[in-house]
Amino acid sequence: MKTTLSELAVLGGPPAFEDLLHVGVPNLGSRDDLLARFNDILDRKWFTNNGIYVREFEAKICELVDSEHCVATSNGTIALELAIRALGLTGEVIVPSFTFVATAHALQWQEIKPVFCDIDPHTHHIDVDKVESLITPLTTGIVGVHLWGNPCNVEALADIADRNGLRLLLDAAHAFGVSCGDHMIGNFGDAECFSFHATKFCTSFEGGAIATNNAELAEKLQLMRNFGFDGPDNVIHIGTNGKMNEMSAAMGITSIESIDEFVKVNHQRYEQYRAALATVSGVELYEHQATSRHNFQYAVALIDESTAGISRDALLRTLHAEKVLARRYFYPGCHRMEPYRSYQPHAGLLLPETESVASKVLVLPTGKGVTEEQVDTICELLRFAANNGPELSQRLAQM
Ligand SMILES: *Cc1c(COP(=O)(O)O)cnc(C)c1O
Repeated sequence: MKTTLSELAVLGGPPAFEDLLHVGVPNLGSRDDLLARFNDILDRKWFTNNGIYVREFEAKICELVDSEHCVATSNGTIALELAIRALGLTGEVIVPSFTFVATAHALQWQEIKPVFCDIDPHTHHIDVDKVESLITPLTTGIVGVHLWGNPCNVEALADIADRNGLRLLLDAAHAFGVSCGDHMIGNFGDAECFSFHATKFCTSFEGGAIATNNAELAEKLQLMRNFGFDGPDNVIHIGTNGKMNEMSAAMGITSIESIDEFVKVNHQRYEQYRAALATVSGVELYEHQATSRHNFQYAVALIDESTAGISRDALLRTLHAEKVLARRYFYPGCHRMEPYRSYQPHAGLLLPETESVASKVLVLPTGKGVTEEQVDTICELLRFAANNGPELSQRLAQM
C-alpha cells in the first residue's frame, strides 16, 4: 500500500503490479471440453459452412435468449452489417455516438449516414426524448445500443419507430444473457446483434449472431451470410461471407456452458468495486440496472474532476504506470472519429452529454482476468490518487 505520492509509479515508485492488467481478458470455460470439440472438428474435416457446431451454437443462443431464430456470423460487426442491409436501411439512421465505432461504421460502410443522437447522462443510453427531432424524410431506422450490458429504453424506441414507420435494430454486443422486463435481450426491435469477440465476457474468439423472431428476416440473413447461396450453384440474393467457422462455434458453445460462472465472477468484482469506491470522493461506479438477469460485463468508473481535483486522463496515466490498463471507452465518441469528424464537423454541438460522459469514463479490469486481491489493490490506488487529487495533478503537470 502506498502512503506517499512519490511511491506512485507515475512519479517514479515501483509499479503495484508485475504484469499488465488488461480490460477484457478472455474468459475461458472448460479447456478439456473445448479441446475435445476441436479434435472432433479435425476428425470430421468439416471446418465451416453451417457445420454441426455452428448449428448447435445457434440453438444454444436461441435457448438462452429465448428468440425464435439466430444466425451466427464471423463477428459482431458483420452481424450489424447484414442486419442493416437485410432490413433495407438506407439514407439516414439515428444512432448514439457514445458506442464502439463499429455501430457507426456498419452504417457508413453501406453509405448510410449515422445521425448521432445524444445520450442520457445517467444511463449512457440514447436519449429517447431527443430521437424524434432528428428524424428527416431520409430517416429509415434507429439503431439502439444496450451499453455496458444494460438494456436501453426499447419500449420508447419501438414506439418512436412504429409511429414514424422506421426499423429498429439493436446493438446488443454488450448485452448477451441480459433480461429486460419479462424478456431476454434478443427479442426486441426487428433484430438484435451480439458479439462474441475475445474481449466480450462470453467469447467465440471472433464471432457474432443476429437474434430475431422474424422468420423471413432470418431466412434472408442466412442467405446473405453465405453469398446468397440457396443450395449448390443457385445464388438467389446479394450476399457476402459472414459465416462463423466450426472452431469459433465450439469455443462459443464452451463459453455458454460456463456463462453462469463468468457472470458470477463479474458480479462479485462489480460489487467489490462498488463497495470500495463508494467512499472515494470524485470516483463513482456506474450502476447496473436491477434486471433479473445481468452479465455485469463492465466495471465503469466515472471520474468527476471538480470533486476529485484530478482529471480522468491523469488518473488513467497514474493507473497505467501501475500496470493497470484501464480504458477510456468510447472516447472521444464516434462523432470525433474519422470519417464522421470530417463528414459532420459540427455534430458535437448536439452532443453535450456524450462529450461530458466520454470525458469521465474509466473502464476497470473485471472478470476472471483479475483476482479479488487485484481489484482491492486497484481500488486502493484509485482512493489514494483521488484523495491526493490536486497535489498529484499538480506534480503530473510539472513533469
Ligand atoms: C464489440 C462491439 C461491436 C463489434 O463486435 P465485433 O465482434 O468486435 O465485430 C459492436 N458494437 C459494440 C457496442 C461492441 O462493443
